[in-house]
Amino acid sequence: MSGVISPLGLGGEAAERFECSRAGCRDRADFAILWRNPKIHTEDRRKTWLACEPHLPILRDFLATRDFPLEVRTIEEIDD
Ligand SMILES: [Zn+2]
Repeated sequence: MSGVISPLGLGGEAAERFECSRAGCRDRADFAILWRNPKIHTEDRRKTWLACEPHLPILRDFLATRDFPLEVRTIEEIDD
């Protein structure tokens, strides 16, 4: 069991740790997209984008339409 739920809610430190990567969005990210561009990244490189729930499909589709390999994880899975 990991992860601490902040009683402060939005505006607290925990809420600002992971912020959505979508331009203009300041929402707390619940998901991480690990991806790479095969043309410029080697096999073991991964870029990470963070996404709030509404923006997850937008960011994921952006990469998917470019045929970039990607994995979607939850923040809990990558927060170690
Ligand atoms: Zn967002």
